[in-house]
Amino acid sequence: MKIYKGSCHCQFIRFEVTTNIDHVRRCNCSVCLKRGALNFRVDKSALRLLTSIDDLSLYQWGSQSAEDYFCPKCGILTFRKPSRLTQAELDNGTKPFAGWTINARCLHDLDLKTLTIININGQAI
Ligand SMILES: [Zn+2]
Repeated sequence: MKIYKGSCHCQFIRFEVTTNIDHVRRCNCSVCLKRGALNFRVDKSALRLLTSIDDLSLYQWGSQSAEDYFCPKCGILTFRKPSRLTQAELDNGTKPFAGWTINARCLHDLDLKTLTIININGQAI
């Protein structure tokens, strides 16, 4: 396991993630498409916030079940909690995920060029 340090652009949001990153996910849902994030999912306990979550801005949309956290100063979205699964997804056997989705572009010392990109068809969800 490695500890990756991360931040938003202005460094107001600072965090660490303990994990091993061997790929990133590129999602085409309406919000991921526009923010251009490369995502990596981690367990809840893998994210250590160095800025209080109360100081971050929160964006919620659609089903209101996802939590998109972004910096109130520079606007960069650093991580999110994915939405609750729909009944159709549960019926299809999709496993619920209770962790965080980290914007891998916000991690320092991570060479994105070397990582496999997995395309996620979030648009279909
Ligand atoms: Zn910022």
